[in-house]
Amino acid sequence: MSVSVVLFTGDLRLHDHPPLCAAAEGGRQVVPLFVRDTAVERAGFAVTNRTAFLADCLRDLDVGLRERGGRLIVRTGDVVDQVCAVAAAADADEIHMAADGSAFAHRREERLRRALEGEGRRLHVHDTVTTVVPPGTVTPAASDHFAVFTPYFRRWSEHRLREPLRAPRSVPVPDRIPSEEPPSRARLTGLAPGLAAGGEREGRKRMTAWLRDGVLDYADRHDDLAADATSRLSPHLHFGTLSPVELVHRARRTGGPGAEAFVRQLAWRDFHRQVLAARPGAATADYRTRGDHWRSEDEARGDIEAWQEGRTGYPLVDAAMRQMRHEGWMHNRGRLLTASFLTKTLYVDWRVGARHFLRLLVDGDVANNQLNWQWVAGTGTDSRPHRVLNPVAQGRRYDPDGAYVRRWVPELAGLRGPSVHEPWTSRNRDAVAAGYPEPVIGLREGLERFERARGLL
Ligand code: FAD
Repeated sequence: MSVSVVLFTGDLRLHDHPPLCAAAEGGRQVVPLFVRDTAVERAGFAVTNRTAFLADCLRDLDVGLRERGGRLIVRTGDVVDQVCAVAAAADADEIHMAADGSAFAHRREERLRRALEGEGRRLHVHDTVTTVVPPGTVTPAASDHFAVFTPYFRRWSEHRLREPLRAPRSVPVPDRIPSEEPPSRARLTGLAPGLAAGGEREGRKRMTAWLRDGVLDYADRHDDLAADATSRLSPHLHFGTLSPVELVHRARRTGGPGAEAFVRQLAWRDFHRQVLAARPGAATADYRTRGDHWRSEDEARGDIEAWQEGRTGYPLVDAAMRQMRHEGWMHNRGRLLTASFLTKTLYVDWRVGARHFLRLLVDGDVANNQLNWQWVAGTGTDSRPHRVLNPVAQGRRYDPDGAYVRRWVPELAGLRGPSVHEPWTSRNRDAVAAGYPEPVIGLREGLERFERARGLL
């Protein structure tokens, strides 16, 4: 019987999975393979929170495959070596995988193609698995990518979506292929205590509940920090336990201004991917340089540590940083504010902040993280690169009752209402519990340093 290998990467699901469906076509046997890539581990990208979420995803994928008569094959090592070894053991003539626009994935794909072709096997790479619109599909007249979101979104919205695919009823896996035990989160230490559970079933449950109950008010409430009224689907999109194509279809079917605003947000994900695919260097270098001479890490060490630990003396910044430590996830409004505070108010290089986020975020993703950091730092695609967010004003606007700050900064629990955002005024000082720090810098001082550095003063 003919055999195909499906290499799972950032697409850890059975629903709407074009490589799996293509591999099983014509009643072929399928080897569903996941390789724990030692290159990812060496690059320091396999941090604890994401490793734990990944472990949940692999266990769940294995369960889903077993319900369909199969199982997941897990290997550790170099992806090319492992795929070739498994393909040879299974005598597979086809290998299917999802496209990924990153430079790392491109190199991996090319190496894999060459190695497999040398052995007489064919690699099939499928797009619209990890993105709605593949990078490079919609472009402006005179460039290989869009640098501005609004015109990109217009073209993205006009793009015709393929229909989502059903999960296969059965996945017959040859029994002679050895596998490691899928990893387990129980064996990991140092996880964020409030880390979400991973896996396709969990993702689908969350998606269904979100589209039924949450998305309706998204346009009005997505910036309300205390309400926590966003989907929290980002880790599922990162690991591919949900299909972005299916999610857009289902959100559009739900309809209304909430669903429209939500779909627009999903387009940001593809937007950053098409920027990074065209400019892979933007993962580490300024997309648009502003001539910054950032403070050195040595000089700013104390400020950086205060920021990381959530003790800058600015309650909203501290609340958001503490949320990330506790959950491995942070609300988008918190990410915008904490990134603005580090890069502009403290004038620290965006790469320092991006590195810290990637160490903790369960949805930590090179395209989304680096390009959002650049957007906030003003070295990316923001058309207002010098805007600075004021943590007190942001607090009054997006946490008007102060409930979000009180949830994460217990030292301020004695302050009522919006006064929690200004603990150091003489009126409020007495209600602040011991241990909450004074501000690391005055906002005016920070603003002046930034504006001078950018040549605006
Ligand atoms: P929702 O508001 O429910 O949005 C739905 C989905 O749309 C998200 O899950 C996400 O896939 C996508 N999305 C929303 N906003 C953005 C955006 N600004 N850019 C790209 N995609 C978006 N997102 C990541 O997935 N990984 C990261 O590493 C990451 N790092 C960030 C760093 C900074 C400094 C900033 C400002 C934003 C970052 N984001 C990142 C984007 C955004 O904050 C998260 O996607 C969002 O908060 C996830 O929560 P949610 O799923 O509830 O989002």
